[in-house]
Amino acid sequence: MTRRAIELNARATGGFEGRVAHAVAVLQGAASDHLGRIVQTTSLGAEDMVVTDLIARHGLPIALATLDTGKLHADTLALIPRIEAHYGLQVERWAPPAEQVLHFVQRHGDLPMRQSIELRKACCALRKLEPLARLLAGRSAWVTGLRREQSGARGTVPFNERDDQGRTKLNPLADWTWADVWHYIEQHEVPYNPLHDEFFPSIGCEPCTRAIAQGEDFRAGRWWWEDEAAKECGLHLKPQSAAAPAAGTERSEAPGGFGSAQAHIGAADVKDARASGRSQNEAAKQAALHVSHTETKEATA
Ligand code: SF4
Repeated sequence: MTRRAIELNARATGGFEGRVAHAVAVLQGAASDHLGRIVQTTSLGAEDMVVTDLIARHGLPIALATLDTGKLHADTLALIPRIEAHYGLQVERWAPPAEQVLHFVQRHGDLPMRQSIELRKACCALRKLEPLARLLAGRSAWVTGLRREQSGARGTVPFNERDDQGRTKLNPLADWTWADVWHYIEQHEVPYNPLHDEFFPSIGCEPCTRAIAQGEDFRAGRWWWEDEAAKECGLHLKPQSAAAPAAGTERSEAPGGFGSAQAHIGAADVKDARASGRSQNEAAKQAALHVSHTETKEATA
């Protein structure tokens, strides 16, 4: 099996051990502050695998959850049982409401994202933002694998911030380099998506991710037909309102926001999805805590 991503990227650089220790401290503090109400929202990419490994290695009480958009690569889906077997932890899978997806596909076809940016964002709102809202309902903190180096829009990502709902959002790898990520993966034999060995540095849904060529930008393979400025799905944009940062944090200047991203989409389908999502979210707040972690969490189930 090729380990090309490790061979190409893993490199020990100055300050690595300090960055690892700081990431662990961020996670430990958050796990203690938000006991039973904190979740890692893993994209199943390399950074998130590092975060999962840190959580497991240090026995931190942080739940693991991912968005099963219905459009993930087979290799990405196959990573979920690998994680569960490797760490003995369960990964919650949160899917969009099946009826809404059916309606959306019937109306716009299987590749609406290629028709317009509005339909691409509508697809992201339905398949990602709606299940994310249910995933986070009842939780006070979430953990991501965002790094400042990933893109210009992420260049000021802080370690600790507040999302537009007032939850704490932790980005423990904010100051890590790509070399750090792969050095850690090599050191600790962390399982990872084999697509990384095929020149997919950033992995999203199958129709919206391609391999990149040498010298291309880190996120060049995501929504490559769009302008650079539009290339976020809404999961990690800052609120437009001046939400107060969590104590002791830096501020991000990235524009937009989870709520504002939805508000700016405008397509009728998104309104449908948002309306549906709101009502389902209320029910989900009551029900989510009682659903088995191994069960796919569909609103229509
Ligand atoms: S990344 Fe592509 S397939 Fe996935 S939700 Fe967004 S537009 Fe839809």
